[in-house]
Amino acid sequence: SMASPALLMRVVASAYSVAEKAATIVRNVMSAGDLGIVEKAGPNDLQTKADRLVQMSICASLARKFPKVTIIGEEELPTDDVTEELIEDGHCEEILKKPCPAQYAGIKEEELVIWVDPLDGTKEYTEGLLDHVTVLIGIAYGGKAIAGVINQPYYNYEAGADAVLGRTIWGVLGIGAFGFQLTEAPAGKHIIVTTRSHSSTLVNECISALNPDTVIRVGGAGNKIIQLIEGKASAYVFASPGCKKWDTCAPEAILHAVGGKITDIRGNSFQYNKEVKHMNSAGVLATLRNYDYYASRIPNTVKQSLVP
Ligand code: AMP
Ligand code: MG
Ligand code: MG
Repeated sequence: SMASPALLMRVVASAYSVAEKAATIVRNVMSAGDLGIVEKAGPNDLQTKADRLVQMSICASLARKFPKVTIIGEEELPTDDVTEELIEDGHCEEILKKPCPAQYAGIKEEELVIWVDPLDGTKEYTEGLLDHVTVLIGIAYGGKAIAGVINQPYYNYEAGADAVLGRTIWGVLGIGAFGFQLTEAPAGKHIIVTTRSHSSTLVNECISALNPDTVIRVGGAGNKIIQLIEGKASAYVFASPGCKKWDTCAPEAILHAVGGKITDIRGNSFQYNKEVKHMNSAGVLATLRNYDYYASRIPNTVKQSLVP
């Protein structure tokens, strides 16, 4: 007889469907036209009705199925009962069919931490740069990002009415990542992808020191990791605090699942245990290939300005 699938695979399979429901909410809030924008820390730190509804949907849906898992979401929300229409109880069958890597087969609910960014790229969402937006569900075990789902609700939105709108990318360490075409960046070119709405003197100083051929400024941590795995950029460089654990957990798992690397600007790996500080204070450096090339060229003055 078939053994029941391992917990990790059941969580990823559910997170896939929960992220697709989230994408529907993101699109519905936009087409309804009332974003309900609230400033959090200031005008560059926004929350919309979509951020709120999606976080409620993701957290309540996963908590109902996996009650002992720790779930940490970006938004601070009242703990009201979530309406039934926000609950997703489906899962992706294709994911359940994949064997769980042996080192993760015995994981228990209490040992998992799920980091949720209900809407990454909120600033860009409010400005109509819709394909910058992603929904991020990262799964951590033993302090490491081991699996993740990235949904891009507006993938293909400029490709015309015939194109299928939206996509879901998922990955697990030891299995790989799916839902996109892994593509190498152009050889011999240094294409840096970075923030468009959270720049600073230090952010720009760091990029200049890398002598880039091209600098791509787009919103979202999820979106920037997609640029790396699809060969649009060769390095994601962000020499600033501001990015949080929910921004990097799912992207990290997917990037690492295909052989890439992400650290802070000083080369330290990120930790994702439930007690960890949320802020990635020392910034982000990520690549699919040639991590050492970029890491070795970050100026010491930049590293010393960022305290982990
Ligand atoms: P960005 O590349 O600017 O889109 O940032 C990636 C993620 O980090 C997004 O979730 C941003 O909201 C967050 N982030 C980066 N810098 C800041 C900042 N200075 N204040 C608030 N959030 C930030
Ligand atoms: Mg974010
Ligand atoms: Mg967010």
